[in-house]
Amino acid sequence: MKVRIQMVFEAEDGRPEAIEEVAQLQRGPLCPAELGLSLTEAKTLMHGMQQAMVTEQVDQYLSQFKTCTHCDAARARKGQHTVVYRTLFGKLNLKSPRLYDCPCQNHGRRSSSPLAALLTSHCAPELLYLQAKFASLMSYGLSVDLLSEVLPLENEINHTSMRRQLHSVAQRLEEELGEEQLQFIEGCANDWKKLPPPGPPFTIGLDGGYVHASDQKSRTEGWFEVITGKSIKTQGGGAKVFAFVNKYDTKPKRRLHEVLKSQGLQMNQQVVFLSDGGDTVRNMQAYLSPESEHLLDWFHITMRLTVMGQLVKGMSTELKPDDRYPLTPSVLASLDKHLESVKWNLWHGNVPHALQRMDDLDDDLETLEENPQNKKKLEKAVKELRGYIMANEAFIPNYGDRYLHDEIISTAFVESTVNQVISKRFVKKQQMRWTQRGAHLLLQTRVQVLNEDLRNTFCRWFPGMNVDQPVELKAA
Ligand SMILES: [Zn+2]
Repeated sequence: MKVRIQMVFEAEDGRPEAIEEVAQLQRGPLCPAELGLSLTEAKTLMHGMQQAMVTEQVDQYLSQFKTCTHCDAARARKGQHTVVYRTLFGKLNLKSPRLYDCPCQNHGRRSSSPLAALLTSHCAPELLYLQAKFASLMSYGLSVDLLSEVLPLENEINHTSMRRQLHSVAQRLEEELGEEQLQFIEGCANDWKKLPPPGPPFTIGLDGGYVHASDQKSRTEGWFEVITGKSIKTQGGGAKVFAFVNKYDTKPKRRLHEVLKSQGLQMNQQVVFLSDGGDTVRNMQAYLSPESEHLLDWFHITMRLTVMGQLVKGMSTELKPDDRYPLTPSVLASLDKHLESVKWNLWHGNVPHALQRMDDLDDDLETLEENPQNKKKLEKAVKELRGYIMANEAFIPNYGDRYLHDEIISTAFVESTVNQVISKRFVKKQQMRWTQRGAHLLLQTRVQVLNEDLRNTFCRWFPGMNVDQPVELKAA
């Protein structure tokens, strides 16, 4: 069997129908692999149809420039060059004529290239969209593999072009972001009273993760920090993530503000920020909402306490009862008790008592005559916990009380956000190194994809992309 595939163009301006032969297929005796179209055939067909359709569309578009709009005289051609246009279905070389203005205008001295003026970008929006989307989700290399496998793009996209396209999308997103401000609170208390009652509080969790830098000088250096967070509008839904490279980004507060705004934050709405301390995340939370609370994430406190508990346990197994040190068992019991008490006091927001119990831990460790391995580690952990709690004292609430009232105290969800936003794309491969700019730009398209915003953004940038023309399929 021979199959001929043709395209028939029906012009609306009364021109005769044009028929373009696109391809011919051959089929022998039927076998499963030859039933219907193969992927290679489909790709070739798509490329051929794209070529025929674009040529026709461009011809029609250019026909309106052939004559002068004022006197109808034919415009002289100055020359022609080729516009390379990349589409989802392959690269096209389009002939772009340069036409002189009619002598009745500007004495005909000027010339213009209507097609070049129309196609200012040489990449079709949909191709740009798919490149940005997949490269946000997986490595540049895998994205090239995937797109070339299913679309007629062999040898037309590569790692470098993929990254360049993604950067151009991210750069455009960055340029849309307004100026950084010290504060984003709008209006005054009187205005806020007049606002409609707000919904349930927003909960925003912030945390950091580390990405391998390309300009690594040593094994320990060469990491830079990425801050990521999640804003949850109501319990169980309406969440958005955001991320930026710390110290590289000049607009972290504006970035967070825009996320909250897109979720419909009102100035009379309660906002709870939970984080692991740190100046950067503290500063960016400030002055975003008059009704905000700033809390140290209980999750991060318990993580430290759990590690300390394990160190005490480790010491108990190391130190077998021994006649030489009869005090040891009671000291170990005391460590356990005081650690428990530190936790209990922190849970109830009683920082002074928690700090006293940390002093008790130090005393216990001093009393211990032996020097098991974990002793030094525990001493260090107590010291670090003390510093951590003192630095964050103002942000330690009565967690127990909040818990009783079903108020949020912890953001285990932020841990998973760090993984979702950073780890999966950035640190899987240890050999992968990032520049701060490269990582920051990738994060911007990545959060757009994770928030399911990228498509809408493209539809806003490229009107027409959101209009899905109905396709009438002839075959039943
Ligand atoms: Zn004219």
